[in-house]
Amino acid sequence: MLFGYKMFKLRQKICDIGNRLWMMSMLPAGDGNISVRLDNNRYLITPSGISKGFLEPGQILLIDGSGKVLDGKGTPSSEIIMHLVAYRLRGDVNAVVHAHPPYATSFSCTNNTLPDNLISEGIIKVGKIPTAPFAIPSSKDTAEAVAPYFRQYNAVLLKNHGAVSLGKDLDDAFLKMELVEHISKIAILTNLIDNLQQIPEDKMKELLELARKFNT
Ligand SMILES: [Zn+2]
Repeated sequence: MLFGYKMFKLRQKICDIGNRLWMMSMLPAGDGNISVRLDNNRYLITPSGISKGFLEPGQILLIDGSGKVLDGKGTPSSEIIMHLVAYRLRGDVNAVVHAHPPYATSFSCTNNTLPDNLISEGIIKVGKIPTAPFAIPSSKDTAEAVAPYFRQYNAVLLKNHGAVSLGKDLDDAFLKMELVEHISKIAILTNLIDNLQQIPEDKMKELLELARKFNT
């Protein structure tokens, strides 16, 4: 169980990450949501409809595994079901970040799959980034569409919507979201240049093995 100072630090960390993502244009208006697991039935999550660029620790809500608010005023993020599904499916995941990064979201609005053979460190730290089928945002459908991908991937694009990253803690989930956007940006920019050079297949095997070690 977490109380007092540690709980405050986690609320503060969610605010810091919200501000960073907003500064990076990944959370326009009141978009996106961030959560962290405290123990086996308590989570902190951002409130719905408020800009994540200006959050105060007191605005972060404490909820249980059913989504019931245990502490705080306001309504939890509309994507609460998606966050809870990630925690239910993955014991190794303790933080979830959902954002609308412009390059990654652009990719999700096409029929192209995000290439996984362009940047070595992206492969090692995030692995493959698939795109989950379209679902109406903030509905049970989104959680159902993305659940099969949560079982085996740490970052997923949401078709015509945005991206979600899973981490062992808040920093890890934030860094993965940052990399998702970086990889998407590189993929789009390289598409504008001739003579694209992808990582050779034999080296990809080595990188995927490194990715497996890095993420376990
Ligand atoms: Zn969204």
